[in-house]
Amino acid sequence: CYILGIESSCDDTAAAVINNGVVLSNVVATQQIHEEYGGVVPELASRAHQQNIVPVVHQALRKANIDKKQLSAIAFTRGPGLMGSLLVGTSFSKSLAMGLGIPLIDVNHMQAHILAHFIKVEEQNTPNFPFLALTISGGHTQIVKVTDYFDMEIIGQTIDDAVGEAFDKSAKILGLPYPGGPLIDKYAQQGDPKKFKFTKPKVQPMDFSFSGLKTAVLYFVEKEVDKNADFISENIEDICASLQFTIVDYLMDKLKNAVKHTGITEIAIGGGVSANSGIRNALKEAETKYGWTTHIPKFEYCTDNAAMIAIVGELKYKQQRFAKNDVLAQARMKL
Ligand code: ATP
Ligand code: FE
Repeated sequence: CYILGIESSCDDTAAAVINNGVVLSNVVATQQIHEEYGGVVPELASRAHQQNIVPVVHQALRKANIDKKQLSAIAFTRGPGLMGSLLVGTSFSKSLAMGLGIPLIDVNHMQAHILAHFIKVEEQNTPNFPFLALTISGGHTQIVKVTDYFDMEIIGQTIDDAVGEAFDKSAKILGLPYPGGPLIDKYAQQGDPKKFKFTKPKVQPMDFSFSGLKTAVLYFVEKEVDKNADFISENIEDICASLQFTIVDYLMDKLKNAVKHTGITEIAIGGGVSANSGIRNALKEAETKYGWTTHIPKFEYCTDNAAMIAIVGELKYKQQRFAKNDVLAQARMKL
């Protein structure tokens, strides 16, 4: 069966077609407009989704080489996310499903970041239940115990900022454009991770806190810039490497605690920050160091994409878990 997935929870308009776990197309239109504002502007995001959604869906169908009449169901992101953005994908999906007379399937975006691991990728094994998912994104930082596809329990999470925010806000302090996460990663790969020290925030063993780290970066940079106005440009690589080292080490500490707590050594990462080279390397290392089995998604399935929505759609389709046609978008939505 062919499932069309549609994602519009934040600032990426995306559509994908999946067939038996294999991605036939995966199209993303990233909105550039937010860069000049240093963050996502909800009203502009919503308007851009309205402009993008039809061409993006067309392109996904064309690339998959199928006609919309061949679709078995339409899966869309119901939440969590920005209400104005979610509404565009939700109403579009409803009308298309109704027009085609096929089932509509609602998808939780955070479940999708985890279940993206069930997309079939050559030379990659899908996780075995139960496993631990570390979901690290722009809006969330969670450790989730995954017992079955739709049986998930959050066992640790951030008490303030998400890790993606820690990357992006620190990047902003360093004068880097939004979203700064990927840039910090890029500079970090050329820098010395031990050059500067940032303290890791103390909270419950499996929980996270990132707001203090951002403040620590701010004070540190201000102090150094007072002494040397060119401090940032002269040290950008070492600052980024040290910061990334601290964040990755912190994430790994928490994972180790979760492994100890649950006895589960099969680990999967998901969400935009799992594109980060530091966490990817640390996780690979953990295979030999701690004997874990790790699952690291392909880059295109880490950040927001519709293939992950389509795979959840397919899993739900097999279980006949359809949405009613009066289903509403939900800005806040539990896992
Ligand atoms: P959520 O999924 O919680 O609703 P979101 O959809 O906005 O939030 P994602 O698209 O999953 O978040 O992830 C975006 C985040 O990932 C941004 O904060 C971005 O900076 C970060 N990110 C992407 N690539 C990297 C990288 N290589 N290193 C660090 N951070 C990265
Ligand atoms: Fe996301």
